[in-house]
Amino acid sequence: MGEVWIDARTWFYKPTVGNLWQERFKGRKFDSYLGKSSHPTQNHVLRLYLRVFLNPINKRSSAIDANKRSFPIKDWTPRGWEKFTNEFAKQSRLWNNRFWLIPPRHFNIMDALNGSHFIRPNVMCYLDTQTVNAPGAAHRTIDVFNIDVDEVKRRDDLDDDKPFLGKFRSDSHHLDSTDINTGKRTYEADDGEEYTVKNHYTMAHEVGHALGLSHIGVLMKSEKCGLAMKFSKEKKNPKDIPLHLRRGKNAQVCYGEYDVAGMAENIMGLGYKFEAVNAAPWTKRIAMHTNTLAGDWRVSLGLLGPQVINEKDRHVSDKRKWIAM
Ligand SMILES: [Zn+2]
Repeated sequence: MGEVWIDARTWFYKPTVGNLWQERFKGRKFDSYLGKSSHPTQNHVLRLYLRVFLNPINKRSSAIDANKRSFPIKDWTPRGWEKFTNEFAKQSRLWNNRFWLIPPRHFNIMDALNGSHFIRPNVMCYLDTQTVNAPGAAHRTIDVFNIDVDEVKRRDDLDDDKPFLGKFRSDSHHLDSTDINTGKRTYEADDGEEYTVKNHYTMAHEVGHALGLSHIGVLMKSEKCGLAMKFSKEKKNPKDIPLHLRRGKNAQVCYGEYDVAGMAENIMGLGYKFEAVNAAPWTKRIAMHTNTLAGDWRVSLGLLGPQVINEKDRHVSDKRKWIAM
């Protein structure tokens, strides 16, 4: 059957057209399906489909991490790989039941008459992460290393000149076997105090990157992260930049460290919390499905069912219709 998937790269907002409801978009980062509420008591659902090829790296003895350090690795065992992929699926699901999108006032095309009044469903945000068997079928390929933790420990315990290895630093295209550990982390805030984040989810964080999200400092437009990005853009010599401001949008300050206490607890920082800024992949995509602007949609962090709409609110016009293209 001819299901039409509109290419997200060809999309642009058409102010003269008015609101639309288009079900399917395919994109470079992910595909999406906007499902209509089937009953006035139900919300619509915007489902993002992210296809990931998790590539288990075998027959190699070392891997370089994001800090350019070399780690000893070994082949995956079937059991170890199963454990890793299960945890990846579990952490991917952390993105579900986090965000509900509230339509703009002028968005009345899906209002449903329920008895004597109109109901306007909100949009539940859903992420469906599918692991596929080949890079060609995937939106993103992630190489996954099985760290030889005993060897790391042995080397780190030796009293020699070799630099301390500790934890392999993953990034959005490289994960490792120790990312199944989700324990606490500590960070320093701008008040000089040390804080503890009770959990960190590296895989869910990298899924956030796959959806197009940057670190929390970038999302929050924090002044410090902005400064780190400015230094990086100016190609300043790293030696002239304080350590926590180095590496541009990957600087410690962009993870929310050395900033307002709590910022680093975000999933796109060092932690596990979700905020409205993390809903951007959905708000940007719903704009495409409905011919609206992402900024017109509000984000609720709690379940919010369909709302009763006043008659006068149903006829608010989209003023932008009258702005020349
Ligand atoms: Zn990151």
